Amino acid sequence: QKFEEQSQKINQFLKQVDHKIVVMSGKGGVGKSTVATNLAVFLSSQGYQVGLLDVDVHGPSIAGLLGLTGLKLNAIGEQIQPYLYSDHLKVVTIQGLLENPDDPLIWRGPVKIGIIRQFLSDVNWGPLDFLIIDSPPGTGDEPLTVAQTVTGCQAVIVTTPQEIALADVRKSIQFCQKVNMPVLGLIENMSGFVCPACGSRHEIFKSGGGEKTASDWNIPFLGRLPIDPGVVTAGDAGQAINSLTSHTKEEMQHIVDQMLQ
Ligand code: ADP
Repeated sequence: QKFEEQSQKINQFLKQVDHKIVVMSGKGGVGKSTVATNLAVFLSSQGYQVGLLDVDVHGPSIAGLLGLTGLKLNAIGEQIQPYLYSDHLKVVTIQGLLENPDDPLIWRGPVKIGIIRQFLSDVNWGPLDFLIIDSPPGTGDEPLTVAQTVTGCQAVIVTTPQEIALADVRKSIQFCQKVNMPVLGLIENMSGFVCPACGSRHEIFKSGGGEKTASDWNIPFLGRLPIDPGVVTAGDAGQAINSLTSHTKEEMQHIVDQMLQ
């Protein structure tokens, strides 16, 4: 009964969201959270209404990336209020529920599933153009819950160019196929470095592996983001976008255009 009621609330919310996107990766450390955060900030800077939800229960990093560490989520009645990062960006992260941001979370599957569902049913998101969900690496409870709960959700898979990361991407693609979640496309992160002084491109970890994997698996290649210290600058709403190099901003725009095609 309660589960059904909650499912109804979740579906009511999802009806008001145009694009539902879960950002996944095969392995940790490829920049999944960084890409999810930058994508959300970029879209919101273009005037879209964006919700950013961190369901990485064991290693939430979005609060840190946006300079929200230590902030608690507030509730009004039964509704959880998201952080208002800007007029156009609402953020909810599991860190907002912790007494101390460094507390480890020792939660089993059913508890995690319950929390993720609650972030979809009880948060005062309002209507959104984009809901961007940052899920932990791999194919565990969290992406599974998202795939099964968020009707109409599409996956963006983040990888780095190295073969070891690409091997894990293939698992993510197969996971999406198994749970019938369409893959919106693949992003190759840390793809080369463009020297801000001379503008020339240096391939630090090689590049092009993401594009090849995407074509091998017949999924769209959305684009590549370079190594850019600006993407890791936590800051206020205005700062975050300004700290990207113009090259990264162009690539971001290209990725968004591809996503909206
Ligand atoms: P994941 O979510 O895949 O575990 P993170 O987003 O936490 O990875 O990124 C891992 C590390 O790499 C972080 O220290 C982050 O600041 C850095 N990083 C990610 N993407 C880039 C990039 N394009 N340029 C420079 N540093 C990056």
